[in-house]
Amino acid sequence: MKLTIVGSRGAYPLEGEATSCYLIQDNDTNIVLDFGAGSLAKIQQFIALEQIDAVLITHYHPDHFSDIFCLQHAFLIKNQLGEIDKKLRIYAPNHEPYFSQMTLEMSSESIPIKGQTVIKLGDMTLEFLETKHIIYSLAIKLTKGDKSIVYTSDTELTDELIEFSKGCHVLLCECSLYQPIPEIKGHMSTLEVEKLIELSGPRMTLLTHLPPYGRNELLLENIKPYPIALASAGVFIDCHEACEHSND
Ligand SMILES: [Zn+2]
Ligand SMILES: [Zn+2]
Repeated sequence: MKLTIVGSRGAYPLEGEATSCYLIQDNDTNIVLDFGAGSLAKIQQFIALEQIDAVLITHYHPDHFSDIFCLQHAFLIKNQLGEIDKKLRIYAPNHEPYFSQMTLEMSSESIPIKGQTVIKLGDMTLEFLETKHIIYSLAIKLTKGDKSIVYTSDTELTDELIEFSKGCHVLLCECSLYQPIPEIKGHMSTLEVEKLIELSGPRMTLLTHLPPYGRNELLLENIKPYPIALASAGVFIDCHEACEHSND
């Protein structure tokens, strides 16, 4: 499994950036976790759109899914032009008014997911956990062999999330808060992230959903001495090589 950061900003993207969007590639399977603002333009630096097999939406906040509508139109136009004969699969919570919009003729089909759902995509097993957020949201665990990646999406710290994350290879963890906005319901600050790392023991942690203000490096300084880095576009981790690279 290879994880590439496409977008790592929370709330809204700064110039040239994207909000939540993570590309996972394993052999011929290409899937994307979340598709927030800015993702559609940014992801084309890493993969041709028609090679994307499925997008998994954790929840219906704009910084996690707003670009999905334009991606549907990309698939629609490519199908109409005869460039492809393929529908995008969109896995998403079965909540309206958005779930029914994930299906579009000649473009995409929607498949509902919720906590406890288990699916196979290629050689990867995907599990989901309902998290504690402002609206219904899911964390995702992808496992292949003895390696797993856990993506928290947006959440407060819960015992269930600690259990869900235990022993993972890569923890892709939201870390949204520092001064002057140290606390918001439904998100984690460095204090909670440190506790999650301490109790779940990931091999490495990438902090993501980064605040669009202040100095993000402060987040690293507040979480020591664990192996952590900030997620930024172009950073990728190949779980089989067990090391981190950067295109920057
Ligand atoms: Zn968010
Ligand atoms: Zn959210």
